[in-house]
Amino acid sequence: MAEFVGRPFFSCRNCRNPVAMADDILSKKFHAKSGPAYLFRNAMNVVFGQAQDRELMTGVFAVAEMYCGNCHEEMGWKYVRAYDPKQKYKEGRFIIDLAKIMKEY
Ligand SMILES: [Zn+2]
Repeated sequence: MAEFVGRPFFSCRNCRNPVAMADDILSKKFHAKSGPAYLFRNAMNVVFGQAQDRELMTGVFAVAEMYCGNCHEEMGWKYVRAYDPKQKYKEGRFIIDLAKIMKEY
C-alpha cells in the first residue's frame, strides 16, 4: 500500500486491517463504550450496521455501529445525523475506540 508510506495510520488490533489515517483525527477528546476514543474525518475498510437513534453525552444522534471490514470486530460508530444544530459538525464523522486499534507507521 504505497500511499501509506511515511503516513501513520491506525489498524484493527485484532487483524491489522488499516482503518483510519492519523491525518484524519479531528479530536482526541471522545469516549466510546469502553474508554477513550478519537473522532476521525474518515474511516476505511470498515462496515456499518443500520443507523439507530442513540442518546449520547452530547445529545441524541442517529449512529451506525462500525465494524472492521475484515474480522468484524466492533470499532466504534459513525454519526449519521445530529439532531442538535450545534452538533452537526459530527455528521459523517467516525468514532473509533482506542482499545480496538493500534498506531502503525
Ligand atoms: Zn479486524
